Amino acid sequence: MHLLSSYDRWLSERIEQRLGCHVITLNAEMTMQAEQTPALARTIHQAELVIPDGSGIVLYGRLHGKRIQRVPGIELAQTLLERSTQFKEPWSIFFFGGAPGVAETAAQNWRQKIPGISIVGVQNGYLKPEDEMEFLHRLKTLQPRLIYVGLGVPRQELWIAQHRHLCPNSVWVGVGGSFDVWAGTKNRAPQWLCDNHLEWSYRLYQEPWRWKRMMALPKFVLRSVMYRLTKRNPVSG
Ligand code: UDP
Repeated sequence: MHLLSSYDRWLSERIEQRLGCHVITLNAEMTMQAEQTPALARTIHQAELVIPDGSGIVLYGRLHGKRIQRVPGIELAQTLLERSTQFKEPWSIFFFGGAPGVAETAAQNWRQKIPGISIVGVQNGYLKPEDEMEFLHRLKTLQPRLIYVGLGVPRQELWIAQHRHLCPNSVWVGVGGSFDVWAGTKNRAPQWLCDNHLEWSYRLYQEPWRWKRMMALPKFVLRSVMYRLTKRNPVSG
C-alpha cells in the first residue's frame, strides 16, 4: 500500500473524531533550518505527524537501512480535499497564505473540481498587523476541521505552533506554495523529475533566487553520509 493512503486514512479518522493535529512535511531544507532555529526544532518534535516530503529524507533513510517512501505534502493535501466530501458531513476547510487573490483562486478551482467541497474561508498571507486580531477571531469562530497554512518554511510551522490552540480540534497542515500551484501561478515539476528525486532542480529553474536556501540539500546529504560513516548524530554535532 502506498504510504499516502495510510496518512490519508489516519488523518481522516482524526478529522472525523475531531482530534487536533499538526502535520509537518519534512524536507532537508527544513531539517537544516531547524538546527539554526530551536523553535522550529521544537515544533517538529511536537507535531503529531511528520511526513517525509523530500528526496534528502529518503536518502537519509536509505543510508541507514530504512526504506522511506516519499510523500509530497501537496499530494497529501490534495487527497484530503478529495476525501473531505466523502463523509456524512463535508469537512469545513480554511486556506490561509499566499499573495492576495491566490488562495481565493485556489479555492474557486477546488470548488469547480469537487462539487460540495466546503471551503469556508480564505485569507492571504500578507495580513496587515491591524487586521490580524479580526482574522484570528474569524478562525476561532469558524473552527474549521482542516486548516491549510501556506506561508513558507519555517514561518508556517511556527505560526501553526503559536495559534493551534485557537482551534484545538482542527487538523493543521503547512502547505508551502501549494496555493500557488492550485491557483495556477506556479507549476509543479514534471512527474519524471519527481520520480527521479529531481524535483528540486525544477524549483531552482523556476525560482533561481532560491539557490542559497537550496544549498541546504547538498549540506544535508554530506552530513547524512558523515553520520553513516561515523554514526555521529548530524543534528547534535
Ligand atoms: N507567503 C505568505 N506570506 C509571507 C511569506 C510567504 O503568504 O509572509 C507565501 C508565498 O506567497 C507563497 C508561500 O508562502 O505562496 C511560500 O511558498 P514556497 O514555495 O516558498 O514555500 P516553501 O518552499 O518555503 O515551503
